[in-house]
This record gives sequence, C-alpha cells and structure tokens, in this order.
Amino acid sequence: MVVVVDDVVEPEIKFTTGRIAGFDFGLKTFLTCSDGSSIESPQFLKQSLNAIKKASRQHSKKLKGSANRERARKNLVRKHEDISNARRDWFWKLAHDLTSGFDVLCFETLNLKGMQRLWGRKISDLAFGEFLQILEWIAKNKGKQVIFIDQWYPSSKTCSSCGHVLEKLDLSVRQWRCPSCQSVNGRDENAAKNICAVGASTVGLDDVRRQGAAIVV
Ligand SMILES: [Zn+2]
Repeated sequence: MVVVVDDVVEPEIKFTTGRIAGFDFGLKTFLTCSDGSSIESPQFLKQSLNAIKKASRQHSKKLKGSANRERARKNLVRKHEDISNARRDWFWKLAHDLTSGFDVLCFETLNLKGMQRLWGRKISDLAFGEFLQILEWIAKNKGKQVIFIDQWYPSSKTCSSCGHVLEKLDLSVRQWRCPSCQSVNGRDENAAKNICAVGASTVGLDDVRRQGAAIVV
C-alpha cells in the first residue's frame, strides 16, 4: 500500500526484519530495548567529559586577557569538538545497527526538562536529541519507521504484563513486583516493552507480540 498525501508519496515500511521494538533512554545504559537487550553509554564518553571538565577548570584559572588563557580556551574548544565528533560517529553506527535489526522503532517523546529534574545532571551531555535526529534520518533512507509516543504516558509505572498502573515508583527502584499479576518487572525493560506496545498500537500493529517479536501484517 502506498499512501499519497499532498502529492508526496510516503514509502511503505520495508518489513525486512519483521521486528518492532520499544526503547527507553537512560543515564548509564543509553538504551534499553523491549527485547531485553541494552546498549551501554560508551566509556569514551565519560572519559571525554572528564577531559572537558579538566580543560574548563584550567581555562578559568588563567588570567583574563592573557596568552595562557587564550591557549586554554582553544584547548577547551578542541576538547568539545573531539567529544561531539566521537559521539556522532557512535550515534551513526548505533542508528545503522538498530535500523538493521528492526523495522519499527518506538521511543518516548523526549522530555529533557523532566529528565534533567529526575537525573540531576546535564542531560545535554548525552545528546539524546541528536541521536534521534540521526536515527530518523537513517530510518527514512532505509524505509524504516521511528515512532514517538506521548511523553506523559506512564511507561515506567505501568506493568507490561497486565497493564496495572502504580501510583508512584521511586527512581531508585530498579525492579518491582506487580501487585496485580505478581510479575517482576525490571524498570527499564518494562518501560521499553510498554513503549513498544503503545507504539505498535499507533501504527495499527496491535497484534504485535510485546516481546519485540514478529510483526503481524
Ligand atoms: Zn501486572
């Protein structure tokens, strides 16, 4: 089926893998997938962030207007460039891997302010938004689909087995037992499964098994 909207032909999704998945962003674990796999934030990212902190400290210690300060400033700029290049390379590779593994990829709409409040650090370091831009670009070129679900959907607090919604769930709780169906839910994987299920329903793939298995079309 080809959907024509205002003379723009929307290419249909290429069902090359027959798989759909939901993904949950995190601090240490960059992405948790609804199939139970996860992608850790690369170690080089942490190291480069430390290098930036150090360069920034050195810069601020130098006398204003001095040649030393100018040198330190250039060094700091270079460190920032290094990290954004390395991160971008990693994003491209990851986006290629994910779009090769799945036909439909579901994410929560980013709520950077909320994440910042929750995680209490500079979320900009992780550049989730930049990653999603790259992923959308690659997905478009490969005929894959990236779906964003509502940022207010309680993906963490909802039991992915039975749909029971907890009243509250502290950030420190990594695993919880559902009071309704007794399932034990790993926090991030449970969220990713819910994101997958909601994403599937928005594209009319309700029959999709929640584990990120086959797409029924
Ligand atoms: Zn349950």
